[in-house]
Amino acid sequence: MTSPVIHHYDVVIVGGGPAGLCAAMYAGRGMLKAALLERGVPGGELLNTEKIEDYPGFVSILGPDLAAKMTEHAVAFGAEILQENVEGIHRLEDGTFRLSTSSGIEYRAPAVILTAGGTPTKLDVPGEAEYAGRGVSYCAVCDGAFFKGEVLAVVGGGDAAVEEADYLTRYASKVYIVHRRDTFRASKLLQERAFANPKIEVVWNEKVLELFGDGTGLKGLELENTLTGSRSKLAASGCFIFIGFEPNSGLIAEHFDHDAAGYIQTDDRMMTSIPGLFAAGDLRVQLTRQVTTAVGDATTAAIAVEKFLTERKAGVAAV
Ligand code: NAP
Repeated sequence: MTSPVIHHYDVVIVGGGPAGLCAAMYAGRGMLKAALLERGVPGGELLNTEKIEDYPGFVSILGPDLAAKMTEHAVAFGAEILQENVEGIHRLEDGTFRLSTSSGIEYRAPAVILTAGGTPTKLDVPGEAEYAGRGVSYCAVCDGAFFKGEVLAVVGGGDAAVEEADYLTRYASKVYIVHRRDTFRASKLLQERAFANPKIEVVWNEKVLELFGDGTGLKGLELENTLTGSRSKLAASGCFIFIGFEPNSGLIAEHFDHDAAGYIQTDDRMMTSIPGLFAAGDLRVQLTRQVTTAVGDATTAAIAVEKFLTERKAGVAAV
């Protein structure tokens, strides 16, 4: 058996969304030898978002454009961005980390910043998996244009559902927002925009029981009223599901503190319960998950890593 190729860094950042790119930029500025491992194109959720209107300094900027600027910025300060799919993060006996990847290359570092975000929560109803990519989607910017002039359903009541429903009306003839309660948790601004959009109709107090189709494509949703229990069918050729996010925290091999939903708990330095392992962005326990909160976390994490490494070298690593 050949031994794996091992690359050593001061810090390895896992995930190339806004948190990862910002951490890489700060680590580079801090003169750390930093690698950012991202399985796809850097940008994370920015690549799934059409317009960003709440990032200071840009009244409005396209998600992919902001991603490109953040990537350029990280590289300008010396961070290495590598296309790697991380399969596991293990803490070794000496307190450093070994990151295994699908390419077979191993990465080692005394500090890791995990910024791997999350994956969309599934409705977990019959038909969802069967019609995924054939009417069922989790990304309006990626798939909206396939539904020109068609009737769509959006499931959810948070910022993502209400914002993306509004976006989808540029293609669809009508968009139903199907929500299980009678109020949205989305921000007031996004709600007002959706309520003012004549192509949007909200279907309140309905739970999705099934996504049905004809074997080749989606035809509609079977619903159950949460107040009366009555069942109905809603015809739609596309169903966009925005019911939250599951944190990608499963890469960590050892026990770490997390909440009931799997979001990682950190201290005020963004350090997890595993010394040297930091977390930033959407996979961390916090009130809200915005681009601004992701880069804020990442700033703290990268600066904390610098201090952690200095203390570690001096043999006084705070844990
Ligand atoms: P979210 O805020 O957690 O909202 C999830 C929505 O899905 C809730 O309305 C919830 O209903 C509903 N839901 C959850 N499970 C469901 C199920 N099994 N069946 C039906 N409905 C279900 O998630 P999000 O909208 O993805 O947003 C995630 C984070 O990103 C938030 O912090 C959000 O502020 C942020 N974000 C911000 C923006 C922006 O500011 N422009 C855009 C997108 C996302 P209940 O309300 O009944 O619980």
